Amino acid sequence: MSCNKNEIVELLQQENLTELFKRANGVRKEFCGDEVHIRGIIEFSNYCCRNCFYCGLRSDNKNIHHYRMGIGEIVALADGIAQDGVKTIVLQSGDDFGFRRSDICLIVERIKKNNPDTAITLSVGERPFDDYMAFRDSGADRYLIKHETSNPHLYEKLHPGQSLKKRIEILEFLKKIGFQIGSGFIVGLPEQTSNDLADDILLLKKLDVDMAGIGPFIPNGQTPLASHPYGNPDLTLKVLAAARIVTQNVHLPVTTALATLCGENGLLLGFSAGCNVIMPDFTPDNYRKDYTIYDDKFRITLDLARDVILKANRKIATDCGDSLKC
Ligand code: SF4
Repeated sequence: MSCNKNEIVELLQQENLTELFKRANGVRKEFCGDEVHIRGIIEFSNYCCRNCFYCGLRSDNKNIHHYRMGIGEIVALADGIAQDGVKTIVLQSGDDFGFRRSDICLIVERIKKNNPDTAITLSVGERPFDDYMAFRDSGADRYLIKHETSNPHLYEKLHPGQSLKKRIEILEFLKKIGFQIGSGFIVGLPEQTSNDLADDILLLKKLDVDMAGIGPFIPNGQTPLASHPYGNPDLTLKVLAAARIVTQNVHLPVTTALATLCGENGLLLGFSAGCNVIMPDFTPDNYRKDYTIYDDKFRITLDLARDVILKANRKIATDCGDSLKC
């Protein structure tokens, strides 16, 4: 549905959540069906050369215990996830050039060789465009790189040395070379307005993304935003519902950040607001404790993911859940 900015702002200001969710859920049912897709995440390195103000992996945070998983370890973990019946594997890290282009290609090639019907999403940040082409050639199917905020001034304040323009160019390039692309943003950033959030949703539409991760801000005590308040869960749910109404068939995950604020109920509420994806975390415990983008991160396990899908009266998808735009 085409909504203009004012109409989206009105959706975000709506007080009757039941009504808004009913509308969003109707759109979800019409354009995405009742199936929920499970994507298994491996957070394989917490090194990052960037310095985002809200993130515990930022390079200025010296109170972090760093790790990099080995290539064989990542591939073996991915094989196990595929054997558990999960058809999408998300490989995520900070912007870590300790993993060379050839390393990431090798990981993708080996996982694909062992599990040809499994989709691979890369979420490894800003890299040279040649890297993206090589990743695509190696068999990666999707790329997730959130725009985080569509307000260019806020973007530059929160991401020293980076620009929204570049982020958008990357997303456009990834789409052009054949990736299914994922963006997304944070709800509850400092100085963020309803207009900004409406622009965030419109940007998803403009970029024609295939998936979008939208979650509330949660502070990390080791960052410049340590004392900034948590994002509002109700507002986050309204943004998710508005995003569903506007983008119709984009894959929308119930985010771990929402579960961190509201527990399992946050996942159920996310489904009722129009979400159709859940992303359990398979990172081994000894690494996961150090993947501290924000504090006290909730853990969505595969069992919990399956359980909440059924509790939400939805079906567990059995395919890899490619873009609904394909
Ligand atoms: S948000 Fe991503 S790019 Fe920014 S510091 Fe954290 S891991 Fe690095």
